[in-house]
Order: sequence, then structure tokens, then C-alpha cells
Amino acid sequence: MTTEPPGSTRLDGTFAYTWDLVGDSAAAERIASLGVGSVALQAAYHSVRVMTPHHPAHRIVHATHAAAYFPLDPHDWRGTRLRPAAPGWGIDVSDRFGTAASALRRQGLRVEAWLVLTHATTLGDRAPDLTVRNAFDERYGYALCPAQPEVVAYAAQLVRSFCARYDGAEVPALMLEACGWLGFEHGSHHEKTAGADLGAGCRNLLSICLCEPCRRGIAAAGADPAVVAAAVRRAVDAELRDGRRVPDSFAESLGDQAARAVLGHRRQVIEDLTHRIAAEAPGRELLLMADGDPQVTGPDSGLDLSRFDGPADAVVVKCWDDEDRSAARIKQAVAASALPVIANVSVLDEPPADLARRVARLRASGAQQFRYYHAGLASPARLRALRAAAGTTADITPTQEGAA
Ligand SMILES: [Zn+2]
Repeated sequence: MTTEPPGSTRLDGTFAYTWDLVGDSAAAERIASLGVGSVALQAAYHSVRVMTPHHPAHRIVHATHAAAYFPLDPHDWRGTRLRPAAPGWGIDVSDRFGTAASALRRQGLRVEAWLVLTHATTLGDRAPDLTVRNAFDERYGYALCPAQPEVVAYAAQLVRSFCARYDGAEVPALMLEACGWLGFEHGSHHEKTAGADLGAGCRNLLSICLCEPCRRGIAAAGADPAVVAAAVRRAVDAELRDGRRVPDSFAESLGDQAARAVLGHRRQVIEDLTHRIAAEAPGRELLLMADGDPQVTGPDSGLDLSRFDGPADAVVVKCWDDEDRSAARIKQAVAASALPVIANVSVLDEPPADLARRVARLRASGAQQFRYYHAGLASPARLRALRAAAGTTADITPTQEGAA
């Protein structure tokens, strides 16, 4: 990763969707005025419904399915079941990513491609056999399993197509989301699962994929997948029906050997996936959205960062929950990983007035850069908070907390 002097905000950045920029001639300048140096710009993204508070032409955009926001050559995808769909919302131009990226670069901003890899319900509908399959043989249609060779080929082709279109000078970095498994959690407005009061341990067990390649991977890592599946079912049912909490650790709920095998299989698959992507993106930085808890699945790959041996240039750690937990997560990532740690900070969920203070604390905890979520979604008051936070980080000297 490009190095920068401590305290510099030159590469701190924000997230943005293509539709935040396409059709709004003032958007790039507005983003540059936030005091950031980079933008993680939507290149391939899952379905979502958003407000666009600043756009002159639309107020709400509803992306009804996962899509690629750059033109694809149909020849590249011939014979494949998994291929990205085109967007049918927002202002239609032939190259949404390229149009938005050019506007950002004209403002002197570095553009990073924000690519979501395994989260796509339309693709899961088309190829249900490639989706995550839990211990009860139930499929999660929004979640493509990265242990499936077709899913790996899809992710690799997506990156190959992207890199063939935009060179490394235009887009020097890829921000990888869902570079691993999505699990039980699906942040959908139509979810009706909360009333079962599942604890984190139970949710993590329901997120273990036991599709055929995952069964083979778990077996190769030293555990019998049928025994793992039976143990998951027993533990989940005990919590669902009898209220007996599943322990937080796989070692406690599944036994040491099964836990090691599940987590070892996962690390191997995520490492292999990042190697495939790196091979398709020579010379580009890979910024991996990651969670330092290897039991976790989701948009941030769950990894023991001290053992991860993939080709990432930085890990991007989500800091969207309370300040103490976020600071602890950053410290843990900094201690575990040899890679630079970027904090993904939300300006949406917290009282915006606290943002500058939270950012200062995360920097003191060891975060080397920040990516603010999200320039297009934030109200004017939140953008002011973002601007204040981005402006203050340069003045924060890392304290002893970072070394603790
Ligand atoms: Zn699987």
C-alpha cells in the first residue's frame, strides 16, 4: 500500500455510489470539498434502496438486484451461469463507473473500485447449487459460496473484466467486499428473524456452509463434515427450542478438531480467492474488508489476521458499532496483522457530532487511514461532520493507546 506520513489524511477517503455522481455535475467537487483524498466507488454492488439527498435529478434509487456498473463484454461471460446483470435504475449512461471516476479524478481524487464479490441474489437464484447451504440443508440464496469453483471463476472474471477496462493509473486499488462467505445475516428490510433471539454463537453456527466443496474442504482439514453438521444442528436446536445459549466459540460448541477444520478450510478458501483476484489485478492494491474474528461471516471476511497469508495490501475494518468495541477491534487488527489497517467509519449511524472524536480515538488505536461511509447517503449535517473529522485527523498525534 502507498505509504504516507503519520497523521496525513491524503489517502483518507469516502465511499460513493456511481449514481451519486452520474448526472450531478457538482458531486465530485462536493466530495473533494470534504477534505478526503480518495473515493471507494461502486463498481459491482448488491441490491439496495437508498436516498440520494444531494442529487438534482432523483431522490430515491432502488437497485433491485446486484449489478456491475461498468460495461461488460458478453464474450467474456459466454457459457457461464454466473454473470453480472446491468443496472436498470439511476441515470443511464453506457459507462457509469468510468463517468463517475473521471469526474472524481478531475478533482484530484484517487479512485478505488469497490467490488462486492459473493453477495448477489439474482445469481443465487440462477444457480442455487452454488449458494451457502447450512447444516439443515437450507440454502441462503443471496450468498454465493466461495469454495465453489464457479464462484471463484465468476469473481476472477469480474476483476479481469474490470482491470481490462480501467488501467492501474486510473484505478490503482480494489476495495473487496464479501471476499468470503456471507452467512445467516442478511441485512434486508424484509427480515423477520430477530424474534427468535439468536445469540452470536448460534448465528455463527447457522453461517457455516456445508455445501459439497465445503464438506470436502472441512474433511481435508481434518474433521468429518457429517459430524460437524450434526453438532451444528444439535446446538442450534437446543438454543431455538430450549433457550440453551450456544457458546460463542466454535471450539466449545463443536469441539476443538471440528472448529480447527472449519476455520482452516475458511482461511484456505479466502486466501485462494484473494490469490486468484491478485493474479487478475497485477499492480493494483487490494484493500480487503475484513473482520479479525475468524468465526464471523459477512461483507467483511472473517479471518485470524495473524495467520492470513493472502496478497492483500491493507485490511479495512468496520467501525460501525459503539466506540469501545470499534477501538478494540482496530487495536486487535493492528496487533494481529502485518498489514496497514484502514478504519471504515460510518457517518450514518452515530450522532454525527461525535464523529471527529471517534475518528481521533480510532487513529490513536492504530488505524492508519479512514474510509468514511458514505458521501452519497449522508445528510448535509453528516457531511459537515465528515468534513470536520477528515480535517482534524491530520492534527491527531498517535498516543500510547496505539501501542497498548
Ligand atoms: Zn460452501
